[in-house]
Amino acid sequence: VRPDRLARVRESLSADPLAALIVTHPPNIRYLTGLQVSAGALIVSAQGAVLIVDGRYTTAAQAVLDPGTDLFVAAPSIDEAIASALRPFGRAAIGIEADSMSVARFARLAALGGAAQDSWQLVHTSAVVETIRMVKDPDELAILREAGRRLSAVACRAREFVREGRTELEVAAEVDHAVRTAGFERAAFDTIVASGPNAALPHARPGGRRLRPGDGVVLDFGGVYDGYCVDLTRTLTIGTVPADFRRLFDAVRDAHTAAIEAVRPGMTTADIDAAARRVLEARGLGETFSHGTGHGLGLEVHEAPRISATAPALPVRAGMVFTIEPGSYVAGQGGVRIEDDVLVTDGGCELLTDVPIEL
Ligand code: ZN
Ligand code: ZN
Repeated sequence: VRPDRLARVRESLSADPLAALIVTHPPNIRYLTGLQVSAGALIVSAQGAVLIVDGRYTTAAQAVLDPGTDLFVAAPSIDEAIASALRPFGRAAIGIEADSMSVARFARLAALGGAAQDSWQLVHTSAVVETIRMVKDPDELAILREAGRRLSAVACRAREFVREGRTELEVAAEVDHAVRTAGFERAAFDTIVASGPNAALPHARPGGRRLRPGDGVVLDFGGVYDGYCVDLTRTLTIGTVPADFRRLFDAVRDAHTAAIEAVRPGMTTADIDAAARRVLEARGLGETFSHGTGHGLGLEVHEAPRISATAPALPVRAGMVFTIEPGSYVAGQGGVRIEDDVLVTDGGCELLTDVPIEL
């Protein structure tokens, strides 16, 4: 259990004010306790914390306990154990994680409170722990830096993987093998290998298409290292590069550079997105950039903050880690995306991934 991180949750609770928060989103449980579970709960209150797991995780849970945290083994279910742990709070306001709790589970927990007049009051909260997770602490940064180094070493071998005559699926299998042998526990998401016209789809799935001369190939892959996700994209070509494709590539590379130069405390997430978008708009490619500029990285591969024009603009703070990944996609023809991972520092940013950007 991480008392420093729990203390920050308690500060949010007293600001709200809530007597306790039921944390059920597994990455949030891991962040606060160090315990990786597929299901469970952590009830955080001013008085302490109660960790609830089922029999599969009892031994692992005992290993992370500290004097401020009690362990309840789910019996007969996690939700009934939550109800037992909440009984001492009487009719208090108890927060739930509304972004990830199902409606069915909410109804079940509400019913377990008993008759309405003496039941606890379940209150929707959003992103309490996720907001704290946005700014990484030194332990997390050490892991993310190492993960970035390892993923970069795999990306530096992209030319070995992307070769004429191979299918997208064959390339993806080689990338996945390289990610595993680089020390990652798993891929952070399904590897994207999108060649030729398929590259016009930002989230294309690799298929049986064989790579051929003149193709642009988008390679987007990530790894999970000690629980933390890193994510990288490079676009390569096979044979002679058509002039149109070079124009797209140069525009995306310049948008990527402009966005990275905009990363520093004092800017907002929207400012960074705008820096990338302005470059593409100036080249008449604004319409071809159909997604946000980036997303936070950590225990999840897509987490806060979103670097996007459509998400709320958040102030950029030192310790945030997110991707910068502008792209340009032309239906029927192809696409380009270039993605790196950055850590915001006091004066700007540090690149966690470091791989040449060249066709
Ligand atoms: Zn990616
Ligand atoms: Zn990404």
